[in-house]
Amino acid sequence: MANKKIVFFNGKFVPYEKAVVSVASHALNYGTGCFEGIRAYWSENRKKLFVFRLRDHVRRMKRSAKTLFLKLLVSEKEFCQVVVELLRKNKPKEDTYIRPLLFKSEEVIGKFDLRKLQDGFTIFTVPLGRYLNTSQGVKTIISSYRRVDDRTVPPFAKPTGIYLNTALAKTEALEKGVDEAILLNLDNSVAEGSAENIFLVKGGKLITPSLDQNILAGITRQTIIELAKRELNMETVQRKVMSKELFSADEVFLTGTGAEVAPVIEINRKKIGDGKAGKITARLQSLYFQIVHGENRKYSRWLTRI
Ligand code: PMP
Repeated sequence: MANKKIVFFNGKFVPYEKAVVSVASHALNYGTGCFEGIRAYWSENRKKLFVFRLRDHVRRMKRSAKTLFLKLLVSEKEFCQVVVELLRKNKPKEDTYIRPLLFKSEEVIGKFDLRKLQDGFTIFTVPLGRYLNTSQGVKTIISSYRRVDDRTVPPFAKPTGIYLNTALAKTEALEKGVDEAILLNLDNSVAEGSAENIFLVKGGKLITPSLDQNILAGITRQTIIELAKRELNMETVQRKVMSKELFSADEVFLTGTGAEVAPVIEINRKKIGDGKAGKITARLQSLYFQIVHGENRKYSRWLTRI
């Protein structure tokens, strides 16, 4: 699936076929790992690839690793250099997803002292176009699965294992004929999409669940909060959001590295706003797309040019 070129694997650049793990590896059996998802955008105009907020993703992975007793043996700077080198080797000329994955590679069953398990580290790249329909918007349901609570497994650490929560919710949505799932917390407050943060627009304000709501501290979420403030003079209120608030919002949208800025046009078969992408969503989306494609110099500090 990866574009079968070069993969960074345990300290070396190797051909895709050589980056393999054992069936007995701890991570495969127990979901003990953490990962990142980074996007690089190909600009046809400038014949360049732009990696979006690389350093921020690396920083988040460092924190995740620490939380999960995983050892990231490279510095932030070295990590960024490896990503750049990998992209230089693979030379993608299309939008590309970069997947760093740090995991318990030890071949062992029934051993759970995370401090004493051997770690593996890989970075591979895959082509990635649109993950959700960002132009027409997405239809969603409120999932019957609840978001993993941080008193069980810390969802902010992007642990591989809890993506079963994402997969079950997403599958349920697709089975019901819609595109995406919105997950609630155990107390019926809104957490996030299956792999996206969520925003509401109401009376000229942005609202999004606060970081204590079992959400991932999304890098796109942070980007949108900053852009709304600087470019649209709109504040974002971060707080607990109850599920019924979604239905009376003027606009709802999802944000994520994969999902980008995707308007939500329907929840549980009910239209949001007038059932089309909202105006504020469209403005933020357009700003976001300009920036990630290197067409807005004001935010070029967020880009790594390849
Ligand atoms: N929540 C979850 C559960 C995710 O997997 C993602 C994707 N990484 C996001 C939110 C969005 O985060 P980001 O904007 O950093 O990609």
